[in-house]
Amino acid sequence: MKFSTKTIHAGQKPEETSGAVMPPVFFTSTYAQEAPNVHKGHEYARVSNPTRTALEEMLAGLEEAAHAYAFASGCAAMDAVLKMLRPGDHVIATNDLYGGSYRLFTQVFEPFGIRFDFIDMQSVSDVEKACTDKTRMLWIETPTNPLLNIVDIRELASLAQKKGAFSVVDNTFASPALQQPLKMGIDAVVHSTTKYLSGHSDLIGGAVCTNNDEIAENLSFQTKTTGAVPGPMDCYLALRGIKTLALRMDRSCLNAKKITSYLENHPQVAEVRYPGLAYHPGHSLAARQMKDFGGMLSFSLKDDSIKKAHAFMSNTRIFTLAESLGGVESLISHPASMTHASIPKEIREKAGLKDSLIRISSGIEDADDLCEDLDRAFNRI
Ligand SMILES: *Cc1c(COP(=O)(O)O)cnc(C)c1O
Repeated sequence: MKFSTKTIHAGQKPEETSGAVMPPVFFTSTYAQEAPNVHKGHEYARVSNPTRTALEEMLAGLEEAAHAYAFASGCAAMDAVLKMLRPGDHVIATNDLYGGSYRLFTQVFEPFGIRFDFIDMQSVSDVEKACTDKTRMLWIETPTNPLLNIVDIRELASLAQKKGAFSVVDNTFASPALQQPLKMGIDAVVHSTTKYLSGHSDLIGGAVCTNNDEIAENLSFQTKTTGAVPGPMDCYLALRGIKTLALRMDRSCLNAKKITSYLENHPQVAEVRYPGLAYHPGHSLAARQMKDFGGMLSFSLKDDSIKKAHAFMSNTRIFTLAESLGGVESLISHPASMTHASIPKEIREKAGLKDSLIRISSGIEDADDLCEDLDRAFNRI
């Protein structure tokens, strides 16, 4: 089955009692049992809910995974994966990563005795050099956030295997429409379904997909034990959003390309970062491991100041100044003062994250209107 067919049908079947083609939203906390432990597959809704199961089967289909678990947020999904670690374990993570991941790693897990190193994963040999006999996990983001660097998934998956570590990809930016890390040898894929998968900026959700039975068992235990699970309404909305993922992603990629061409020719722009650009350092790797180059891009200004970036962003009318990404509407954000504010300035700058860097999530509007909106903002600063 091709990807866009899967977004409609993977794991889905008409509901048994009524034939409803869309999964009902099962608002229930518990399920009647005929006798103790004799039931129709569900006991208590922290453990399972049919609407959630429908979403999980869809997610497994999209990532070609044997197992998928839905969580209440992307952060809850990451938290569940990290809880496989034990004090003394070492994790190597991308240096240019989601600010919330950095906060979770350093402020929640480091105090429990887990060590993190944040390095530029574009160099596989640097990752190898950073490995110790305690390294239990490689945490990969690609394309990275917000610099859109590309990391070699296949190479890092095999390095992790060689070192006896788990490899994890946060696939939120690409979504399974563009990149399927499990097929490249990765052990677990994490998603913030809040973003492209749901696609309408109307819920918070997360997921983990894996073919590894040990990870799956751990995740299943955790959903049951700590209960960071999404409610049925959010599962329904996520599933509904997924049905248009392929269409939305096509348009977002197209819009990103048009915006990139506009920005490249603008005299006030210093640098445009988008893996679709032939001179982007990760361009050929992205062409190999992704189906398209995505809807995310960033750019910096010749006048590299926070003030100038703020002035620019307060002058757009169609682009909404907001955190998040992957929705139908185009968003604009300022990593240095928003999503990445929890990363210390010297670490930010070392990774190349400039003060004026502006990140764009291309929505599915008409690209002409989007470029005109950027033009208006440039003319006002
Ligand atoms: C948003 C995001 C997260 C966190 O997800 P939430 O659903 O907001 O908890 C994790 N990773 C990346 C790359 C994200 O963009």
